[in-house]
Amino acid sequence: MIIENLFAEKKPVLSFEIFPPKKEAELKNIDETLRLLSGLQPDFISVTFGAGGSGADNKTLELASRIKREYGIEPLVHLTCISYSREEIRGILERMEEAGLKNVLALRGDKNPQAPVKEDFQYASELVAFIREQGDFHISGACYPEVHLEAADGVADIRNLKKKVEAGVGHLISQLFFDNEIFYDFQEKLKIAGIDVPVEAGIMPVTNKAQIERMVNLCGAALPEKFRRILDKYGDRKEALFDAGMAYAVNQIVELIAHGVDGIHIFTMNNPIVAGRICQGIKNLIWKGK
Ligand code: FAD
Repeated sequence: MIIENLFAEKKPVLSFEIFPPKKEAELKNIDETLRLLSGLQPDFISVTFGAGGSGADNKTLELASRIKREYGIEPLVHLTCISYSREEIRGILERMEEAGLKNVLALRGDKNPQAPVKEDFQYASELVAFIREQGDFHISGACYPEVHLEAADGVADIRNLKKKVEAGVGHLISQLFFDNEIFYDFQEKLKIAGIDVPVEAGIMPVTNKAQIERMVNLCGAALPEKFRRILDKYGDRKEALFDAGMAYAVNQIVELIAHGVDGIHIFTMNNPIVAGRICQGIKNLIWKGK
């Protein structure tokens, strides 16, 4: 299945993101996680890739192959480049080809002190061009409704995104955000810039206060007033915040779908209970096409 083609058949597309567990004990639970997540019938599941040095990189391909082979769901393989040489990336792409993994999310990766930057790739657009030279892959990319933290400004970020799309990206997945208005503005800017590939909205269901504080620090997502009020009221009550976080995410998705979003990408954090709660809340809004 070619992921970018899905959007012509079905709207909205529903996808999940998972990460390869680092600890052996968690790896044992991954079967149950995959079984439950696949039961929710997402259109595809993306698997994250370490920025290098984490030792988890090999597990991405292994997990993606299992999602395809054992659960019959199309995987999207994340691939980061700043800490890898051309030869290393070529090797990974060859392994993907052998495993029949054709869909790749081409990423620069965050700078990581444990994995020094190599000189071969500076930006994701260079990885996109390289992948296209290597074979018949279908390439997705990341985008940032609230502007990537290292970009000079919003205009520069959109210009850079356009270069990435022109290099060969057929589908975008957004960074998480909590304020739909920011996403709608971003969609307008993409239209003005002539970026017309499908864009999935990245949704992070909030399950606890520490998680949300970490996320906001890491990616600079704005917290709307209504979200702050939820945190102030329920921040210290674990179960209450969980319920409120699920309700917030469902509400955000309902509004996005009503607004005609191309797809919803749920950062599941490998938690099938969270994904299940969200899917329960939107099951009749997601058209199950062919
Ligand atoms: P790029 O598109 O290269 O952009 C990075 C910065 O460089 C931006 O500020 C951009 O404006 C600028 N830029 C781009 N091109 C140029 C140019 N030609 N000249 C000047 N400036 C330029 N990280 C992981 O390590 N593993 C993952 O699995 C992973 N999955 C992700 C999934 C999603 C949906 C998202 C949104 C992010 C994910 N990330 C992941 C994080 C990502 O690697 C970081 O956000 C990283 O900092 C940027 O990656 P990018 O591919 O968007 O980079």
